[in-house]
Amino acid sequence: MRSALTLADVEEAARRRLDPAVWDFIAGGAGEERTLRANVEAFRKVRLRPRVLAGAGRPDTATRILGRTWAAPVAIAPVAYHTLADPAGETATAEAAGAVGVPLVVSTFAGRSFEDVAAVATAPLWAQVYCFRDREETRRLVERAERAGVEALVLTVDAPHLGRRHRDLRNGFRLPDGIAPANLSGADYSSPSGHAAAEFDPALDWSVVGWLRSVSRLPVLLKGILSAEDARQAVAAGADGIVVSNHGGRQLDGVPATLEVLAEVAGAVAGACPVLLDGGVRRGADVLAALALGADAVLLGRPVLHGLAAGGREGAERVLRIVVDELVDAMGLAGIGSVAEAGPALLWDGPRPAAAAVPGALAAPVAPAGSTAPGGGLGMADLHPSLSDPVLDTMNFLNDITRRYPRAISFAPGRPYDEHFETEQIFDYLRRYLDHLEERGFTPEQRREALFQYGPTRGQIRELIADWLRAEEDVDVPVDSIVVTVGCQEAMALALRALISGPEDVMLVASPCYVGITGAARILDIRLAAVAEREDGFDPAELEAVVREQRALGRRPRAFYVVPDHANPSGNTMSLANRHALLELAGRLDLLVLEDSPYRLVSPGRQLPTLKSLDRDRRVVQLGSFSKTLFPGARVGYAVADQPVAGAGLLADELTKLKSMITVNTSPLSQAAAAGMLLAGEGRLAEINAEAIAHYEGAMRVTLKALDEHLPEPRRSALGVRWNKPSGGFFLTLNVPFRADDAALARSAEEFGVIWTPMSYFYPLGGGEHAIRLSTSYPTHAELEEGVARLARFIESESGSASASGSAS
Ligand code: PMP
Repeated sequence: MRSALTLADVEEAARRRLDPAVWDFIAGGAGEERTLRANVEAFRKVRLRPRVLAGAGRPDTATRILGRTWAAPVAIAPVAYHTLADPAGETATAEAAGAVGVPLVVSTFAGRSFEDVAAVATAPLWAQVYCFRDREETRRLVERAERAGVEALVLTVDAPHLGRRHRDLRNGFRLPDGIAPANLSGADYSSPSGHAAAEFDPALDWSVVGWLRSVSRLPVLLKGILSAEDARQAVAAGADGIVVSNHGGRQLDGVPATLEVLAEVAGAVAGACPVLLDGGVRRGADVLAALALGADAVLLGRPVLHGLAAGGREGAERVLRIVVDELVDAMGLAGIGSVAEAGPALLWDGPRPAAAAVPGALAAPVAPAGSTAPGGGLGMADLHPSLSDPVLDTMNFLNDITRRYPRAISFAPGRPYDEHFETEQIFDYLRRYLDHLEERGFTPEQRREALFQYGPTRGQIRELIADWLRAEEDVDVPVDSIVVTVGCQEAMALALRALISGPEDVMLVASPCYVGITGAARILDIRLAAVAEREDGFDPAELEAVVREQRALGRRPRAFYVVPDHANPSGNTMSLANRHALLELAGRLDLLVLEDSPYRLVSPGRQLPTLKSLDRDRRVVQLGSFSKTLFPGARVGYAVADQPVAGAGLLADELTKLKSMITVNTSPLSQAAAAGMLLAGEGRLAEINAEAIAHYEGAMRVTLKALDEHLPEPRRSALGVRWNKPSGGFFLTLNVPFRADDAALARSAEEFGVIWTPMSYFYPLGGGEHAIRLSTSYPTHAELEEGVARLARFIESESGSASASGSAS
């Protein structure tokens, strides 16, 4: 039965029951009073747009977060010591949460142990984690939580700036006897604010996310994010969720209410992970307002403790039911039937839906939340969120630097060697292709059409490509499994679009990884999961663990994208053993493999077999490029997709359908020129590329030799500098002892006249801060030698300043 009470009634009952100092402790929460008031007041300013005759029936409040269904988009916030409100503490709260079907986030400072709470919990349990100065304490906490069955970690990232808790200072508040943190050992916790200042790590940076991942397999949410910049960083660092929270109050005048920054943060995250809002929720309508502004769910803190204080387990349950019932009412008044329908159109001041939602009509498009440009122009919030993602800007800073320092030697561009191209040759190639058509019986009209007309979407040089694949790649596939694309880049985009069927599908990529695939995934709103790359490719056990972890989160890994030979950016090559292991795993885990190998046929000596040539059960989709083996100006690539699709034809047919709506067909003129060049090599690329291969081989040799000369042992080890020794391709990885970021690159260009690419650009989920990508393909050998000499001087200088600043701190 519905309760006639409101949360204000419950709050009043709790106030009467509790000792005034304890009341103040709970009322103060972990934050600054002003901030807490501002959070509540921000909700009061939101007006929702009432709608009538929506025909939605009783609204459904269920929602899915991190692969689990919650009865409502509400979880219980991490609040310390529920034992202050009721002796049963968090176990009573967990029972209440279970009865309603919403999760409980157990505080680091819980009064009951994870084990006790887990024993009674029937809804998801998450654990909130502070990062202590003593990392071992944090590690123990996390391991204990994970062992007890907690499903996610919520790392509080604004705690080093904890508010001053004025009321507790005034009251001289100490925890009453018998109230203690049940999951921590050591330290004196009786004065919570003193403890926070003394023991929380004040020097946390984004690497803490990687650290937490190294000690736990659980998803990590970051709590305390208040800006789009930090939200993007959080996603880049690999966060599985974000909690907008101004927990600490930060003592900053004018810290915004959480609701005020929600739209900005949600816009920046753009669906990459769930966004939760914490602070100020006091009514069901507040939950709906938060959803309308972009939250996936809210955290409810103090009201639950009030319920607990006023009526124990039943009191806490009553509070949750009041909020859910009020949410149902609010959804009904707003005319929506499910949580998924909540968006900015619900706001009185939000974008107006174009027309009434007549049954059967298309839903009105909802504009993204966030600010638009003043004066009616375009703002970034009006455009697709990927446009604000740094991955789409990766090369801009580099291009900028290259323009500003034209005399610097650049190890940045991955361009092919082009000395052997001659402009007039392009006419020969076209001629050759036309002759080839004539030999095959094409009439003059058909030849004219082959150059001037729209061509077949799947491409017109597929037979030549199929013959070449058989001759040089040991890949024997039917012509119908080939689609000619606008570079490999289009093949990637088509494969991603086709293979991702819904929001729970994920694409696996190596880390570091070629930005072409991560950028394409971003613009298609495709979620990525990373598998660390190693010198021999990858660790099969890690791939398996990542797949299982993703499945445990309710996600479906679809395919693993790899560059098996002389990879961009690392230069590493997958061993033969790992190629076999990958195919075996793909079969066992029901994954596809996307193989992209543009460098193998411009590398010296015998190459390892392609994954596709080893593929016995059609697990491999090959994404091909002729940019390195023919010429990049053609923009010709291809996909080999011989996978049968039940009830349809081959996957290649489905890629063709997509292509017909993106590029219609690859330019016939380009295909003709590329085919002419292939014909000039009598269907093989080895001969055509002999000169280029010799150049690349020499370039890699010269670069490695110069590195050895300028950074000899034992100096190299003393500095902490290492590099790999690729047997081919364009790239190598140089590990350095300092942060190789944009600022370091700017110093390198300006003071030492040498440009390179920060490896961090290629880490889809953060990492690579101490590595550099060197590309050797484009400079002359003399430039490479001089470039390495400059680079060595730059490294010496940075290492000197790194150790100087290290000793100073
Ligand atoms: N894949 C990888 C691994 C690459 O390094 C590159 C080019 N730098 C490409 C694909 C791009 O291929 P295309 O020019 O055919 O689009």
